[in-house]
Amino acid sequence: MNWDILISTYPSEKDDILRAKSLQEQVDAAMNDMGIPVLDGPCPEDRLISLFPDLARVCSSVWRDYSGSEPSFDMAELLQTFANKEAFPEIEGINEDALQVILTRAFSRLLFLLREKNSRAIPDTWSQGSCPFCGAFARIGFDSETGRVLHCPTCGHSWRYPRVRCTVCGNADHSTLGYFEAEGLEGIRVSFCKECSHYIKVIDTAARDTADPETEDALSLEMDNLAVEEGFTEVP
Ligand SMILES: [Zn+2]
Ligand SMILES: [Zn+2]
Repeated sequence: MNWDILISTYPSEKDDILRAKSLQEQVDAAMNDMGIPVLDGPCPEDRLISLFPDLARVCSSVWRDYSGSEPSFDMAELLQTFANKEAFPEIEGINEDALQVILTRAFSRLLFLLREKNSRAIPDTWSQGSCPFCGAFARIGFDSETGRVLHCPTCGHSWRYPRVRCTVCGNADHSTLGYFEAEGLEGIRVSFCKECSHYIKVIDTAARDTADPETEDALSLEMDNLAVEEGFTEVP
């Protein structure tokens, strides 16, 4: 993440951004000692779940440093809720944003480290819109002269994918695929599918000084709002 670009784009949210940066760094540091297993294929869910107790210990220690007290909730249970993309339970008296940052980072850092250690388990070619390693759907892609590259928002893997094909339902019919751009955000498109109503954001690398996928995603949140206003849904 390029924090400086983020702060200059959202100056009124500087304090929150700096807090997120600091929490992410603490999670990364706390995970340095965590054992990362060798897998015999792409990351299966049950293997990931078996690492949650360790991951919960990491999150709890970062939470203790941040809040000054022990978590008043079951961190492993919360990780499971988060992994299932279920709504967070109401926990009184806590900063939910900070907790979300810690869990999101811990989860994606774990998958990143697993992917790095197990890169041989990832197929060289892949024809789906969900990540061949962790199964998450790409939220963002980069277009260049050589084609489209999708990026996994969770483990950071990237892979080639046809431009004229929906990443969610595989629809490749020109007449039900489309895109739109927004004024003031040159080089970023919402690429949508009318068959399944999902969309991804696509960065045109020729039209824009591009940053890393995570930063581009954060810089283009306005496009997500526009896509939802147009009746489209974020990838599952
Ligand atoms: Zn992935
Ligand atoms: Zn579709």
